[in-house]
Amino acid sequence: MEIILATKVGFCFGVKRAFNLALKTSKAVRPCQVLGPLVHNESVIRKLQESGVEFINSLDEAKSGVIIIPTHGEDPEVLQRIKEMGIKMVDATCPLVKNVQDLTKDLHEKGNQIIIIGDKEHKEIRSIQAVIKRRGIIIDSEEEAFRLEIKNKSLAIIAQTTQNPVKVKEIIRVLKKRFKNLKFYNTICPSVSAYQEGLKELALRVDLLLIIGSKTSANTNRLVEIAKAVGKPVYHIENASQLKKKRFLNVKTLGIATGTSTPDWLIKEVIQKLKSYAP
Ligand code: SF4
Repeated sequence: MEIILATKVGFCFGVKRAFNLALKTSKAVRPCQVLGPLVHNESVIRKLQESGVEFINSLDEAKSGVIIIPTHGEDPEVLQRIKEMGIKMVDATCPLVKNVQDLTKDLHEKGNQIIIIGDKEHKEIRSIQAVIKRRGIIIDSEEEAFRLEIKNKSLAIIAQTTQNPVKVKEIIRVLKKRFKNLKFYNTICPSVSAYQEGLKELALRVDLLLIIGSKTSANTNRLVEIAKAVGKPVYHIENASQLKKKRFLNVKTLGIATGTSTPDWLIKEVIQKLKSYAP
């Protein structure tokens, strides 16, 4: 079986930066605590725990030492509270997410109604909403765009950094039919787009697509959606232990794609196991 990797695999720039910041900080200050998951990948979290990094779910659990803010960003009120508690803070918010927060705040202050295309429950969306005191309207489908009721306001539309551009385009198309005074600011992360484009190119060359990434990772789930949409058989795993040999029977060419928070060590483990299937 021939194995072909997508043009972009492994950590994106924001995840690599956060991972390295956490490792570096844990060597310098203890306790080193991350407020929530640093990134959406369990293997990465485990690796950091082995290096002494602790994970807390709320500031009530915080001890002195240092608190690291994850890639998805945080509510400015929470950041302020950390300062007031006198705990050192390291901000690992991805600079691109920070840019989206700043842009959203600016557009909101200029009087626009902010529409966010994304997942209401995702931490990035919650952090973006928090910078405008939760005044944005979040939609995630064409149906929700059809149902939107807004009068006499200019609309500024942004998207979660990990959104599928095709889906966003469809939602914008609906909004444009319904509202005149509207502007879309493309906040989809270029890295995410590159991983998605790489997957589409790969799909043309292989019999089966193997996608490695956490089921909690929005951008990995997006890759699975895209692979299904292009009609290619897709197999989504989180790590090598989930591989099932029978899925590769009659597969001559296998394509491997990953989410932006899938570490290189997981990719290597998967490839090693796949190679052991060779007769
Ligand atoms: S996917 Fe993009 S926005 Fe998200 S962490 Fe990576 S570089 Fe930053």
